[in-house]
Amino acid sequence: MTSRAQDPVLLSVVVPMLDEQEVLPELHRRLEAALEGFAWELIAVDDGSSDATPMLLDELSARDPRVTAVHLTRSWGHQAALTAGMDAARGDVVVTIDADLQDPPELIPALVEQWRAGNDIVRAVRGERTGEPRWRLTAIGGFYRLLGRWTGVDYAANTGDFRLMDRRAVDVVRAMPERARYLRGMTAWTGFASADVSYQRDPRLAGETKYPIRKLVRFAIDGLTSFSHVPLRLASYLGFFFAALAFLGLPLAVIARVTGIYVPGIATVIILVCFLGGVQLLTLGIVGEYLGRMYDELKRRPLYLVRDVVVRGEHHVPTTHLTPVLDREDPVPAPDPAKLG
Ligand code: UDP
Ligand code: MG
Repeated sequence: MTSRAQDPVLLSVVVPMLDEQEVLPELHRRLEAALEGFAWELIAVDDGSSDATPMLLDELSARDPRVTAVHLTRSWGHQAALTAGMDAARGDVVVTIDADLQDPPELIPALVEQWRAGNDIVRAVRGERTGEPRWRLTAIGGFYRLLGRWTGVDYAANTGDFRLMDRRAVDVVRAMPERARYLRGMTAWTGFASADVSYQRDPRLAGETKYPIRKLVRFAIDGLTSFSHVPLRLASYLGFFFAALAFLGLPLAVIARVTGIYVPGIATVIILVCFLGGVQLLTLGIVGEYLGRMYDELKRRPLYLVRDVVVRGEHHVPTTHLTPVLDREDPVPAPDPAKLG
């Protein structure tokens, strides 16, 4: 671990946005204040928003050349949008953060401090969470504990996608081709030197959560199955357990019959049949879940598609279906203060 003498040459802030018109102006204002003194760029990924977000982003990029808007063709999901942003980011350091200001941009300098101390991954760990229902927090907490135990990878419960990554870590994660993207797990998996910075997570500034239960459960299953085969093993364990039970039960039934203490119990039979049927379907479902995932991975479809990229208010349509038009050598110019207002 070597410490870095200077601040990053360019710090990229990657923000996925799905219908975030209410928070965008405030996000830009707070980023600008928090990153005073850094050379930074904002890569805003518009994940198929249907409100004014795309328009506001284009306007913003015309006023502030540090802002680049990557418009995806439709909503590809949070993790795909983050991936698109990481692909477009040019910085030697990349910070990913949510648009809704639940994660304070003011923490970024503290993350950079840890990067300078030699860490390639700096995770923002939330302390007490406010403004979210209790049951949601309990469920999320339980999931991370389970995942940590099953996979042996240290996920640090209470980290989201607010983190800083060194260019090296970004490129490693970008080179990982899997479709089921569980980025917080993928970064932890690399094993690069990492540090945590804790902070207070605020309630959403405005608008609704873009993570309804349906998406949350999907995301949890993604995380679990892409990092663990325990559910598959669970299927075998259950199978063993019930086979053993049946073998034990057989002689018992014979003895009961011979000694005449056998009482016909149709209810028991029905319950057992239902139960075993349930277990079989469950295990089949687990196998199917993995099979479906293998099929998805096998197809090797792109993770996202870019409609266009807006740099300095100008629209660029990528020539190939993926490559963003950003030039890594192109320096990010300072904004004109008059235009920023
Ligand atoms: N988001 C996205 N696509 C999605 C869901 C979410 O780009 O399909 C973005 C959203 O705009 C926000 C971030 O991902 O910037 C986190 O979403 P949100 O704050 O709604 O999740 P929560 O904090 O409620 O878990
Ligand atoms: Mg949020």
